[in-house]
Amino acid sequence: MADVHSKETRSFNMSKIKGKDTKPEMLVRKYLFSHGFRYRVHDRRLPGNPDIVLPKYRTAIFIHGCFWHGHEGCRYFIIPKTRTEWWVSKLSRNTANDEKALTALHALGWKAIVIWECDLKKATLDHTLKALLGDLRSTLVKQK
Ligand SMILES: [Zn+2]
Repeated sequence: MADVHSKETRSFNMSKIKGKDTKPEMLVRKYLFSHGFRYRVHDRRLPGNPDIVLPKYRTAIFIHGCFWHGHEGCRYFIIPKTRTEWWVSKLSRNTANDEKALTALHALGWKAIVIWECDLKKATLDHTLKALLGDLRSTLVKQK
């Protein structure tokens, strides 16, 4: 079969699949850093391998791609028309893993915040980041 993807498309797809240091995640990291937050990234010691971990806040942040993590009711979450059954089972497995990770984190006394990629689009980015900041600040107050 001929390779229908251009080199650019393919590397874009690969970066989506790899899911590390993707642009939406970098937006959140840069924002937090510029507001004085210090964090670890891709922490394998915690359930679900959270994208951003703030030890001081005992908070783990996941930045979820709407497709791969099955963002319910989101316009970016569209089950492909081909191999539909395969996709449904694949994506529901992802969702189940996500839920398991959140439950495990809570059991360890960690707070988990999920940020959906669609909330990091230009129109909503500012609002999302400000809400995150407020959330984190209130977390620290509660712990004191
Ligand atoms: Zn979404």
